[in-house]
Amino acid sequence: MEPLDRSTIWPYDEHGEPGRFYYSRYDSPTVAEAEARLGQLDGGHALLFPSGSGATTALVLALLHPGDTIALAEGAYYGTGVTFQALAKWGLRYVEFDQTGTPPEGVQLLWLEAPSNPFLTMPDLEAAAAHAAPVVVDSTAATPVYLRPLEHHADFVLHSATKYLAGHDDALLGAVVCRETAAADELRTFRSRTGISAAADPAWLLLRGLKTLEVRVRRQTATATALAEHLRRHAKVQTVRYPGLGGLISFDLADGEAARRVETSTRLIVNATSLGGVTSVMESRHRWEGDRVPTGLLRLSAGLEDADALWRDLAAALEQA
Ligand code: PLP
Repeated sequence: MEPLDRSTIWPYDEHGEPGRFYYSRYDSPTVAEAEARLGQLDGGHALLFPSGSGATTALVLALLHPGDTIALAEGAYYGTGVTFQALAKWGLRYVEFDQTGTPPEGVQLLWLEAPSNPFLTMPDLEAAAAHAAPVVVDSTAATPVYLRPLEHHADFVLHSATKYLAGHDDALLGAVVCRETAAADELRTFRSRTGISAAADPAWLLLRGLKTLEVRVRRQTATATALAEHLRRHAKVQTVRYPGLGGLISFDLADGEAARRVETSTRLIVNATSLGGVTSVMESRHRWEGDRVPTGLLRLSAGLEDADALWRDLAAALEQA
């Protein structure tokens, strides 16, 4: 493994001049190594942040001005809208739009999600590229294994690296991958000045996670594909959303009570939030998102357990629906 360097300072050279690394808020070797690896995977310049939400905050504050409006994919990660709302008192506005169609005019940034969490729609990247505003694609759930948004003319890729990239539910981390060097330099300067810098330990866990990213995500995709097929044939399941890539599925039961009974009845699948880890997790999203999602919607993130064992567990729980 690459070394884990937890230093916050490095000595100046024999002439008293700082080298590349001198204070870790600006740049540090383990973070830089993880950024280089992720940059290769996404085909751009990667910068790490303490969380996905920290990456979102840094990117919009660095790019936009008071009074600017973001067009946010409707049905995208609930917390992204919450972050934008928290920035409203500094003059940030956002409107939601259907990312499978043409984005609205008169906005200064497009924010897409591939696939959206938990509705699992894929964005129309061509329609976004034809728009005048810069394009951000939150590609947390697709990962570079299935999508490299910069190759589709996106300007920035955003990742909650907490999910598939690190992959083991033990690191909180975010990333922005920039297409242009100048934009990456600006964001790096903003990051140093505002102190939204990632630490060495989660960066090292990201380096380790990236070594198995492809094999994990392909296996999670195979498992999710099998689970989605079973769910589509199940009498108690109304709607199944699965885009055909990645490990994330959402499906609807009759109501909130049925969803609560099922999520608390599994033994192998853990009733917990988040996604993208080696452990399968499932939860009702209504508890967090309210009426934005159907009361009976369950979100399931397939892990690396045996697919048949997962279906047996889920099928037994669905008896309680
Ligand atoms: N983007 C997506 C699609 C997410 O699912 C999440 C977290 O659930 C985030 C961003 C925010 O990431 P973090 O929890 O690392 O701040």
